[in-house]
Amino acid sequence: MIKAIIFDMDGTLYTNTDIKDQFAKAAYYTLAKSDNIPIDQAQDLIEERRAELKAKSGFPVPYTLTLKSFDIPIKVWHKENIAFFDPRNFLHKDEKLKASLVKLKKNHRLAVMTNNNRIQTERVIEALELDGLFDRVFTFNSFEILKPKLEFFKKAAAELGIQPKVCLYVGNRYDVDLQPAQEIGMQIFKVEGPEDIYDLANRILKKE
Ligand SMILES: [Mg+2]
Repeated sequence: MIKAIIFDMDGTLYTNTDIKDQFAKAAYYTLAKSDNIPIDQAQDLIEERRAELKAKSGFPVPYTLTLKSFDIPIKVWHKENIAFFDPRNFLHKDEKLKASLVKLKKNHRLAVMTNNNRIQTERVIEALELDGLFDRVFTFNSFEILKPKLEFFKKAAAELGIQPKVCLYVGNRYDVDLQPAQEIGMQIFKVEGPEDIYDLANRILKKE
């Protein structure tokens, strides 16, 4: 029995190459500004580091964690990316996703849990026209903890008032979203993007 469904946001509720590109450019800009180096050099340093981190972990590493490895505080990165781009310029309503979430909401508590910051998260939810569908939206700003830290998952479940075992975590990254969710006892569902969520209500009903 699944009582709550927690969704990752970026790469899960939407996929968008322009936003991916904006995140990358914002990351280069942030390191360039912080270390007072040219953008090209910052780009090389960041992409080299991402390749190293990927080789070590076996998974692609988000810019947030890459910048953290350069000692850029998460709050600085968030402040810079909020000023650098607005996801509302790139996203629009996804009718099928919304219909699926409306259906799921009838029998489940729904939440978002993202490493993104509160402002960018609000902008994305507004652009996708999903306001009001989530019981809770957990961002980095909620507890100042990042996935894959288990503490983030535990606190989110506690605030939703549900046991992890009756919770389904939906995300696009195994190492950041699904492995830790599973480790604390949540059920997991891996997606490549929102298209994999369109039929989630029927899949859950079939299983139960
Ligand atoms: Mg994601």
